[in-house]
Amino acid sequence: MSNAAKNKLPEVEIPDVRTPKILQGQKALVTGANSGIGKGIALELAKAGADVVVNYIVDPDSALDLVDQLKEQGIASFAFKADVSNEANVIEMFHQAVKELGAIDILINNAGLQRDAPFEEMTLEQWNKVIGVNLTGQFLCAREAVKIFKKRGVNREISCSAGKIIHISSVHEVIPWAGHANYAASKGGVMMLMKSIAQEVAPHRIRINSICPGAIRTPINKSVWSTPEAYDKLMELIPYRRIGETDDIGRLAAWLASDHADYINGTSIFIDGGMTLYPGFATGG
Ligand code: NAD
Repeated sequence: MSNAAKNKLPEVEIPDVRTPKILQGQKALVTGANSGIGKGIALELAKAGADVVVNYIVDPDSALDLVDQLKEQGIASFAFKADVSNEANVIEMFHQAVKELGAIDILINNAGLQRDAPFEEMTLEQWNKVIGVNLTGQFLCAREAVKIFKKRGVNREISCSAGKIIHISSVHEVIPWAGHANYAASKGGVMMLMKSIAQEVAPHRIRINSICPGAIRTPINKSVWSTPEAYDKLMELIPYRRIGETDDIGRLAAWLASDHADYINGTSIFIDGGMTLYPGFATGG
């Protein structure tokens, strides 16, 4: 044997400590997964080893592209079109998810939208649309997930919890927002929805929490980051002086859904670069 061959170290598998497979074997459903924060979360869940159902309502091509990207991580994935504010659609989506993947362990209640208007000009249609998707949609999906979690119970080979729900709320569950009364009301509602379900189902070893993002760079808020002037103005609201990225949220979601976060239940985690620190008081008050 040559010296070079003798000195060759045996090949070892080096654990990837940056993205440990903390969700290996788990099955996740992410609503509104083909854009923005939902996409960022789907990618991080897959990196952590979870199979992912990609819910979408428009733009099937982007949903199918995402499924391909997720499968490159070696996990199972499929796209499912459903309006989260439609009860029949939601029931069918969860039925299909269990049929294809065998179980659902994690729900990411992410789908959401804005229909902004000065308060006295806000139409009932704008109000109902936002409450329908952002609040009723989260209720409908959470209800189906809880039924599945309770029926299956804890599978210790997968997780020490019977299931996890992460609601994507917003800093606007606590920060009032002029011109966005419907949106802020929907997120305030999500907070009490989350806490009430958590209190009710905790004895079944089901964990329910919210992630409350500040300003994250996605299509929903393009107007606040797409020009240098708008970005500078936005920075006045963010002590940490940068916008959030979708993978900031994705990494938190993967950790929160994992057993690393097993004792976290019924709480809102703010991820906002300090937006909720009342930045207006930094130099005054
Ligand atoms: P986005 O517009 O990129 O994504 C929203 C997703 O929800 C899209 O895929 C959209 O098609 C989907 N959707 C809308 N209505 C739906 C319906 N009826 N059924 C199924 N899917 C539907 O915006 P985003 O910023 O990624 O928003 C995702 C979530 O994050 C929302 O709940 C939003 O309120 C919340 N959020 C975003 C920010 C931010 O700064 N971007 C901050 C706080 C909270």
